[in-house]
Amino acid sequence: MTYATDRMVGNCCNFEQMTDLPRALREWLAGEMALYVPPVLASQEAPGGETRKDLLEMADGAQVEVVLLRYGTRRSVCVSTQVGCACGCLFCATGQMGFVRDLSAGEIVLQVVHVQRALAAQGERLSNVVLMGMGEPLLNADATLAAVRRMVDPRGLGLPARRITLSTVGIVPGIARLAEEDVGIGLAVSLHAATDAVRERLVPINRRYPLDTLFAALREYTERTQRRVMVEWLVLDGVNDGPEQARVLVDRLNGLPVHVNLIRLNPTGGYEGIPASSEAMEAFARVLDRAGIPHTMRQRRGGAIQAGCGQLWVERCSG
Ligand code: SAH
Ligand code: SF4
Repeated sequence: MTYATDRMVGNCCNFEQMTDLPRALREWLAGEMALYVPPVLASQEAPGGETRKDLLEMADGAQVEVVLLRYGTRRSVCVSTQVGCACGCLFCATGQMGFVRDLSAGEIVLQVVHVQRALAAQGERLSNVVLMGMGEPLLNADATLAAVRRMVDPRGLGLPARRITLSTVGIVPGIARLAEEDVGIGLAVSLHAATDAVRERLVPINRRYPLDTLFAALREYTERTQRRVMVEWLVLDGVNDGPEQARVLVDRLNGLPVHVNLIRLNPTGGYEGIPASSEAMEAFARVLDRAGIPHTMRQRRGGAIQAGCGQLWVERCSG
């Protein structure tokens, strides 16, 4: 079977236009399922076109943020998996908004198709997918994994699994499921703190899945998949940017194949924390260096157009 979304890439938005299919099949398809092309409610592009963010309207009126990131030759789409999020991370615009609903597999895939079409119109091709938009993918794991399968299926979008990365706040049963079903995609974990006391304050779900439990799941994951995990660390002034947190992190990561990403905060209205100083970030990175832990330091891309986690939605809906 060919997925409807695949055909939408070729600017073909209703079954009647799919003239390479037999008429009877086209009529049957039109009666069985709807092809939905979401209207773009708002769009923002950073100067230079490096980042573009579109707010898409789903059939029921739900609003979903999708971001295109251009970096060198890489063309990535940052996809949402839920409208809002129940996890309530303090620094996150989506968390501040609360949970609205899960997205279906189709609604997740159509965000990728939307960006593929926008790129195709400029003679470009999508290279990467990051499941890092609004929502927690592993709290909507059925739909997210179904969407990923459609993305990698050669009869679907045919994207290489290794070019797809899922970011989770640390939903332990979901990580176990990823290890078990091994779909071949990359895993990123939003850690942000190395002690339960600090992490609980930033990431409330840590009370349900404390660090020992989370790291046990990550060890199991890396052993089963033989894949390295990306550790995300939002460096916050006076919160988690000190050498003490860095040293505890190094202890926790002992022997685990990881890459650490030190990220700068995109300020949101609902959180008064401030990004760590460059000096603190560099000192933190030196501790990782000495321990031989690979790491990168980066600005959360899209900052110029508030493309961090759910920010466009919040702007529109609160204004
Ligand atoms: N729920 C998943 C994926 C979506 S959030 C998760 O938490 O991993 C994607 C990433 O954006 C996470 O690493 C999250 O911690 C980060 N993030 C959220 N708010 C941010 C902000 N204001 N500035 C920078 N990064 C942020
Ligand atoms: Fe949800 Fe991720 Fe935002 Fe936390 S950071 S509230 S898990 S979307």
